[in-house]
Amino acid sequence: MKLGKPERMIINGRRLDGRGLYELRPIKMKVGVLKNADGSSYLEWGGNKILCAVHGPRELHPKHLARPDKAILRCIYSMATFSVKERKKPGPDRRSIELSKVIREALENVVFLHLFPQTVIDVYIKVLQSDGGTRCASIVAASLALADAGIPMKDLVAACAAGKVDGQIVLDLFEIEDNYGEADLPVAIVPKTGEIVLLQMDGNMTREEFEKALELAISGALKVYELQKKALYEKYGASYETKR
Ligand code: UDP
Repeated sequence: MKLGKPERMIINGRRLDGRGLYELRPIKMKVGVLKNADGSSYLEWGGNKILCAVHGPRELHPKHLARPDKAILRCIYSMATFSVKERKKPGPDRRSIELSKVIREALENVVFLHLFPQTVIDVYIKVLQSDGGTRCASIVAASLALADAGIPMKDLVAACAAGKVDGQIVLDLFEIEDNYGEADLPVAIVPKTGEIVLLQMDGNMTREEFEKALELAISGALKVYELQKKALYEKYGASYETKR
């Protein structure tokens, strides 16, 4: 069930959830939350609640899918049936297949897959509660869980969306803005190299608006990156930097 479109989503420079135009939602993250996974993370980003588990590198079945030169990365994004207002039908649908693919493609840019030929690294992302922006939140949670599994990477992937709501460029859209705004621009970056590893756009913006939204999304992702590093420091302390 979608809530109806509000008449206005920005009133006196404030959004419906009380934020300013360029403000992120509150974010909390933690690594090492599941004892049976090689690496794991839990992320709360506004109303999103996401759990991520990483297994591997491990032997791949069926064997013919294995690559002689590198590991394969498998990402499975799924929403719990109770994660949305109307019961989500279990099992993959077009949207979750697309999200699994774009999340994998973003992460493949940082993981040193060539170090683990013939193996698979599995990344399971479970959205327990969703409130807009779950693809960015999933990328953030997944790169934390990969780091927690000790998998060598050139950097974490950080992500954030920006977009256009009521004619204004805003940072980090939540569900109502995502559903009824004019545009949503999720972006993921590799902060150390400046690479953009995910860039999608839903809706329409002028070129100038696009450029402003892109810059804003990158600035949001850099703030998220600081929180990711903090979450790793909280578990690993100084050993995090030296291990890399
Ligand atoms: N959503 C939903 N039911 C669905 C799929 C999505 O209620 O079956 C909501 C959910 O809150 C999601 C938002 O719509 O976060 C926006 O979905 P979108 O496909 O734009 O992906 P996201 O913004 O989560 O990356």
